Parts: sequence; C-alpha cells; structure tokens
Amino acid sequence: MEYTEIMVRYGELSTKGKNRKDFINRLGGNIRKTLKVFPEVEVHPNRDRTHVTLNGANSADVIGRLKKVFGIQNFSPSLKVERTMEDVQRGTLELLKDQLKAGMTFKVNTRRSDHDFEITTDVMNRDLGGFILDNFPGSIVQMKNPDITLRVEIRSNGIFLTSEIIQGAGGLPVGTAGKGMMMLSGGIDSPVAGYLGMKRGVDMEMVHFFSPPYTSEQALAKAKELTGKLAAYAGNVQFIQVPFTEIQETIKEKCPEGYLMTIQRRMMLRLVVALAKQRGGMAVFNGESLGQVASQTMESMAAINDVTNMPIIRPVVSMDKNEIIEIAKEIDTYDLSIMPFEDCCTIFAPPAPKTRPDIEKTRYYEKRIDVEGLLERSLAGVKIENVHAEQKFMNQDEDVFTELL
Ligand code: ATP
Ligand code: MG
Repeated sequence: MEYTEIMVRYGELSTKGKNRKDFINRLGGNIRKTLKVFPEVEVHPNRDRTHVTLNGANSADVIGRLKKVFGIQNFSPSLKVERTMEDVQRGTLELLKDQLKAGMTFKVNTRRSDHDFEITTDVMNRDLGGFILDNFPGSIVQMKNPDITLRVEIRSNGIFLTSEIIQGAGGLPVGTAGKGMMMLSGGIDSPVAGYLGMKRGVDMEMVHFFSPPYTSEQALAKAKELTGKLAAYAGNVQFIQVPFTEIQETIKEKCPEGYLMTIQRRMMLRLVVALAKQRGGMAVFNGESLGQVASQTMESMAAINDVTNMPIIRPVVSMDKNEIIEIAKEIDTYDLSIMPFEDCCTIFAPPAPKTRPDIEKTRYYEKRIDVEGLLERSLAGVKIENVHAEQKFMNQDEDVFTELL
C-alpha cells in the first residue's frame, strides 16, 4: 500500500500550554531532519497535528524513521482522495483490500473539519459502511472495538482516509529540554541512559574517554557506532573524544591503588564539566546504576560528585541490569555493547577499588597530581565529529576477529 500522507499526533506536548508552539516547531524541525534523505517529502506542522506529505516517497521507509522521533504519540498513514463519493469509495477499496478479511469487524468514523461539504458525517458513515459491506463479503459492522476503524477526514483540500494507528516513540522532542553531556562508554548502560535522556527532550552530546595504546581503535569505533544508533533518535549527534592516557598513567603512578578509580572518575567528571561549559551543556548524564559495581555506591558517587555542582543525571540509577538490557535490545545497542573491547576504566581498574571512598582522603591523594595541567593537556587533544543516524565505524571483518582471539 503506497500512502500519500502521514498524519502525526502529538503526545505529552499537547499539555504544555504556552510552550506548545516551540514544541511543535521543534518537532517539525526534528521530523524534517530525520526525513532529509527524502527530498520530496514536505512537513507541515499545525496546532493539533503535523502532516507529512509523501509526494511519492516510500511510505514504509518514512514510517520506519518516524517511529524514532520523540514527541510523537502516534501516527496514521493516510490516503488523500478528491472530495467526491466515487473517489472516497475507490480509496476505501485500495486501503482495505489487503486488510479487511471475511469474518472481520469494522466501522467507519468520519470527521468533518470543512462543514461546507455537502455530505454529513452520519451519511458518510452509513453510505460508506454499506459500500464496504457490499464489496467485502463476510465483513461485519461493529461499533465497539472493531478490528478495523476506517477514519474519514473531510478537509477543505481533500478527503483523508486512514485505517491504522502506529505507536510513536513518545517522550518530548529532542532539543526542548536543552543540551546535556552524555558520558558514553562502550558498555550496555550508558547508551540506554543516553536514549532515556534524549527521550525527555535533551539535546545530547556524547563524551567518550579513550586511552591509546591501552584501548584500541576498535573500542573508539564502537563508541562512535553506538552514537550512530542513538543519532537515529535525533537526526545527528556530536561525538566528543577525549584523550585520557596521560591522566590514567599519572594517577596510577602517584596515587594509592584503592583510590585510582575514584580519582580517575573525578578527572573524567571535571573534563565533562569543562566541555559542558564551553558548549552550553547544562547537565552531565551517565550510565551509573546503584550498587552495580564498586564505583556505583552512594559513597562513591559522593566522592566523585565532589568536584562539581553541575547536575549529574543518572537515568538508569534504579534499574536492574535486566531492565537495562531489555531497553538496550529494543534500541539495538545491545549487540554492539557486548562486543569485548576494553574500556579505559577496565584497563587500569585495581583488583580491589574502595567501595566506600572517603572524600577527605580522596582530596588528599589527588593533591599528588597536577590536576589543572592534566586537564588542560587533555582538553587540547579533544576531537569532535558529527555522527549521523546508523553511521558505521567498526571494521567489519578481520580486525574484529583477531581482537576477539
Ligand atoms: P556502562 O555499561 O555504561 O559502561 P558500567 O556499568 O560499565 O557502565 P562503569 O564502567 O563503572 O559502569 O561506568 C559508569 C559510567 O561512567 C558509565 O555508565 C559511563 O557513563 C561513564 N563512563 C565509563 N567509561 C567511560 C568512557 N570511557 N567514556 C565516557 N564515559 C565513561
Ligand atoms: Mg563500562
């Protein structure tokens, strides 16, 4: 079935009062961004709905992309026909021919926004219902919970027929909540946390620490490819790679083993906050989940959080691992996340990190390193690149294989 238009309905955004206009415009912009690959498509945001005119673009491909746009409650692919009964009938046949089978129930539900149109909603419901009964032997009219509801919308520029409502991604349009900095490792948790933040409207930039030669090119590529997965929800996403080797080596050399992890994390956080300040980020996001590993106790969070008062948002903090994995599978990051490339955190992980680091001791041991100089040199080596939806970075063949060995 090739549709002509998609009617997009808003979710929570309808309740946002005076911000409504901004939300609708932002959503319209996001839809345009994700549909940029179809130059023929037109996007028309209105107060109650956004109309996406396909102009011949493949509706299945467009639908696939719309499913990932936050702020859409649901949408209906529809067929636009001329404002005559014959055209409505012809469109109805085309729309229902693969859907309405013998024994199935249906109803017709007409809405008339153009009240000058000569046929009333009741007459349309009744006449078109009769036409369907005549043309689909074995079909049954049923008002309550029918298998198929054929919606007929009479507007001044045409009549729109739809029989399907497809669930959207929900949430709020990306960008309506401001910018956030996501600490993205190659693990399972942080991509899910990033997704959840984006779902609440955050325009997320990905910050990834890497430590060559201890971490491989493939580990870096994996983080970028995860960013590509998340970019499908935003159109494109900035990937910020931050060199971390010198910092890790210095901490390892100068600080006691039990505090390596805490001090490393404090340095990471300082760098993310510095980047946020440069780039207009308002909060730091990470994938910490309470009690999952040593660095994720409340004592540890306090000792790490000690270096900044910028909000740190932890979208998966109270989720169980299996709940996080479920979302990772849904958003298609799981298979990438479980590929066994070393993260910089695991490389220098001491056998027994302190699960209850003491803030005073942490501050004391940290005085042994040149915090400012290390930050400055790391920031000087930052690289930023624009990653688009589903962009690939991993070397697909022999390198992956040798690394797995
Ligand atoms: P994840 O599955 O997200 O890697 P994790 O359970 O492995 O999380 P940790 O390794 O303790 O947990 O990391 C906690 C959080 O610190 C991560 O969720 C991520 O937000 C951040 N983080 C860890 N390593 C990096 C990295 N190399 N670059 C950026 N952020 C990182
Ligand atoms: Mg990890």
